Amino acid sequence: MSTLEERYEAIRARVPAGVKLVAVSKTRSVEEIQALYDLGQRAFGENYPQELRDKQPALPADIEWHFIGHLQTNKVKYLAPFVHLVHAVDSGKLMQELEKRAAANDRTIGALLQVHIADEETKHGLTPDELLEAVRSWPWNEWPHVEVRGLMAMATFTDDLVQVRREFDAVARLFGQVKALGVFPADRFTELSLGMTSDLDEAIAAGSTLVRVGTAIFGERPSPAGNP
Ligand SMILES: *Cc1c(COP(=O)(O)O)cnc(C)c1O
Repeated sequence: MSTLEERYEAIRARVPAGVKLVAVSKTRSVEEIQALYDLGQRAFGENYPQELRDKQPALPADIEWHFIGHLQTNKVKYLAPFVHLVHAVDSGKLMQELEKRAAANDRTIGALLQVHIADEETKHGLTPDELLEAVRSWPWNEWPHVEVRGLMAMATFTDDLVQVRREFDAVARLFGQVKALGVFPADRFTELSLGMTSDLDEAIAAGSTLVRVGTAIFGERPSPAGNP
């Protein structure tokens, strides 16, 4: 059995300078998160809004919180006072709510647009065509408190790392296309959030700037009821 410190150092060794490691701490206790914080980690990712709302006040205030899961508009209020980056924005309705709550808290919230690239049925994420259409037509200037920083995607859940790499490369190309449209300031539209434990190296090779790693750091997650 390896220790938290050994697992953390092993992952850090695989993440090059210029790529930010987001430690995914969903289902992990405040004590486990504090232990990783004490080893130097500052960016953490969660994907259940109430869980994050409850844990955040018990942890150091300088943690950079990333919300990496699907976010329902009625949950934005729980996170708006402190969240740094929302990784999975896929609707104008969510942008509108983020704007409202960010403005009410007198702050700016970062956002990534989620691309649906995986060969799987899911309701979440914009297809590449929908993304390009959204970038051209959504009223981005009505949302000054939400800063669009880049794209996020999840690859197909498969052992076929060639397929995963092909999907990540497609997102990276899309990132270039969106950037070229000039809708978002180029010096701020800089982030690609791609990998997790199973496809970390493929994500880094494809140009990911943020990697979301849980299991490889904390160990296997127990599945709480209702959260597969
Ligand atoms: C849980 C989760 C991760 C981390 O997954 P691991 O396999 O534990 O590294 C990354 N991204 C998202 C969106 C997640 O929900």
